[in-house]
Amino acid sequence: MADFEPLAAKSLRREPLTRGELLTVLTSTDDELLDLVAAASRPRRRHFGRTVKLNYLVNLKSGLCPEDCGYCSQRLGSSADIVTYTWLKPEQTRAAVAGGVQAGAARVCLVASGRGPTDRDIRRLAPTIEKIKADHPGVEVCACLGLLSDGQADELRRAGADAYNHNLNTSGERYADICSTHTFDDRVDTVAKAKQAGLSPCSGLIAGMGESAGDIADALLALRGLDPDSVPVNFLIPFEGTPLAGRWDLTPQHCLRILSAARLLFPDTEVRLAAGREVHLRSLQALALHVVNSIFLGDYLTSEGQPGRADLEMIRDAGFTVLGAGPEEDGAGGADGRPDLVRARRRGAGTDLPPNA
Ligand code: SF4
Repeated sequence: MADFEPLAAKSLRREPLTRGELLTVLTSTDDELLDLVAAASRPRRRHFGRTVKLNYLVNLKSGLCPEDCGYCSQRLGSSADIVTYTWLKPEQTRAAVAGGVQAGAARVCLVASGRGPTDRDIRRLAPTIEKIKADHPGVEVCACLGLLSDGQADELRRAGADAYNHNLNTSGERYADICSTHTFDDRVDTVAKAKQAGLSPCSGLIAGMGESAGDIADALLALRGLDPDSVPVNFLIPFEGTPLAGRWDLTPQHCLRILSAARLLFPDTEVRLAAGREVHLRSLQALALHVVNSIFLGDYLTSEGQPGRADLEMIRDAGFTVLGAGPEEDGAGGADGRPDLVRARRRGAGTDLPPNA
């Protein structure tokens, strides 16, 4: 059995794990899983206590993208059955943001499909960002608009945006396998532009696209080189109508290994469990909260998540609290009665109905 405690100790000292150590984590066995999660939970607890940050996605512009990222339901030529629309009106954006904030989101992520914004797009979005910041002063606004041209990050920062998300998604070596219309270096360049403008850099990966453990390790190490403030870990949602349809490579256990590797390499950085949480982790979602300190609440860009209320219940039942919520709001510290869950049996033995089996 592998001993993960030396890796936890290293992580607690903020020493980066080596590629070999990341591979030890990523190739560990299911028998070793709880030991691994326990080790990864140590830096999580030290730096984030029992808090879970909630993030809320608003898809400002959906589908119709000219890029060909193979994992994306909004890509060029996608026949995925998703909602498509051009830019939301400012009032629609503000209403969507208000819903997320009301549900407890500490950060709202304003996302638009496309290669990158035009200067006109940025000018159009800037007043909406200003209004959102005025409506919700304590809430972080993250923009995710694709590749940035010179000056655009500064303009977003001036409008009040706090952060910019642009994921590296996979290793540099593999990038050309998942996209031909832009490069890994283009992505690195946009994260650098955001950082230079004073936007908090958010960059992560997508697992489950046929990559090796080595690719995940390389992607994590490349991310570490960018020194992001948050690292979203997405698990591929293999939409029908995209090139990666039918790719169900991930198990809940392997998702936990990937999250643990991310946490051990980023001990005090926000590690966010992102898209694919429900479909890949399934009943192990709550266990992942011992490793990550951040999740998306509610729906994703083009697919539905579990109901926001179920997310909040899961957080509370697992013994965590929502970052920024008062004890009354998140229900921490007390057992809530759930009489709605108690139902007398009316099927199976002694009845005319088939049993629940
Ligand atoms: S990931 Fe972004 S750039 Fe790539 S196809 Fe999807 S919307 Fe377009």
